[in-house]
Amino acid sequence: MRTVLITGGSRGIGAEAVRLFANAGCRVVLNYNASEEAAKALAAEFAGRVLPVRADVACRTEVEAMFRRAEAVFGGVDVLICNAGVAQQKLFTDLTEGEWRRMLDVHLTGAFHCCQCALPHMIRQRWGRIVTVSSMWGQVGGSCEAAYSAAKAGLIGLTKALAKEEGPSGVTVNCVAPGVIDTDMMAGFSEADRSALADETPVGALGTPRQVAEALLFLAGERAGYITGQVLGVNGGLVI
Ligand code: NAP
Repeated sequence: MRTVLITGGSRGIGAEAVRLFANAGCRVVLNYNASEEAAKALAAEFAGRVLPVRADVACRTEVEAMFRRAEAVFGGVDVLICNAGVAQQKLFTDLTEGEWRRMLDVHLTGAFHCCQCALPHMIRQRWGRIVTVSSMWGQVGGSCEAAYSAAKAGLIGLTKALAKEEGPSGVTVNCVAPGVIDTDMMAGFSEADRSALADETPVGALGTPRQVAEALLFLAGERAGYITGQVLGVNGGLVI
């Protein structure tokens, strides 16, 4: 039975991934930061197979403590899903240095911390899976999302470099790049905006967290063993 650590597992795509991996028979470490109640309620659905652990992924000491706890309870982490993220829409000229740094810290440095903590066990056992969650904006850039786009593009670079470095150790590293997915991250959008986004999408709909989680599960599985360094768009054809 594999142990999977999912960052940002308390809501949205991450929560759906927790359900999918747990239902597939994995032990799941559910990382959360602010949403303690949601994280604990979700873990309770899976009686002992899902372990909620709080850590701000941007903070090295908290991430190290989370991996120590995961190892103590479930053993080493075999599969790492770097999903935690925050969104911010703002004109580039209005961005503060603090906002810029926080965006890079959560998305990119967060993945750096988690990958560094996860890899020693994966390399030792010569098997591991890392899947990062970027965004279509990391592929093509989003207006008023410069910091987010830069962080997500950085995540793609990290994924590709790590795939080359860790391939010889039996570890694959891939990236899922969602399009517009119906989660809390879309809360700021009006009904009119949501419907315009759906119309713009070739398949004519917003994506669901489940559709992204299915891609994560596939890339984390045995059947994806010859796939590494790839970016898989889950975007209804919005970015091809
Ligand atoms: P969401 O519903 O807002 O959930 C975000 C998750 O990230 C929450 O579980 C949150 O946990 C966690 N998180 C935020 N900051 C964290 C931190 N510092 N440390 C640990 N966890 C943290 O968002 P989502 O739509 O599911 O997004 C998941 C991922 O997909 C993100 O990386 C996002 O950028 C990416 N994505 C989303 C879309 C979309 O349209 N929704 C599109 C492309 C890419 P707490 O609530 O516990 O803090």
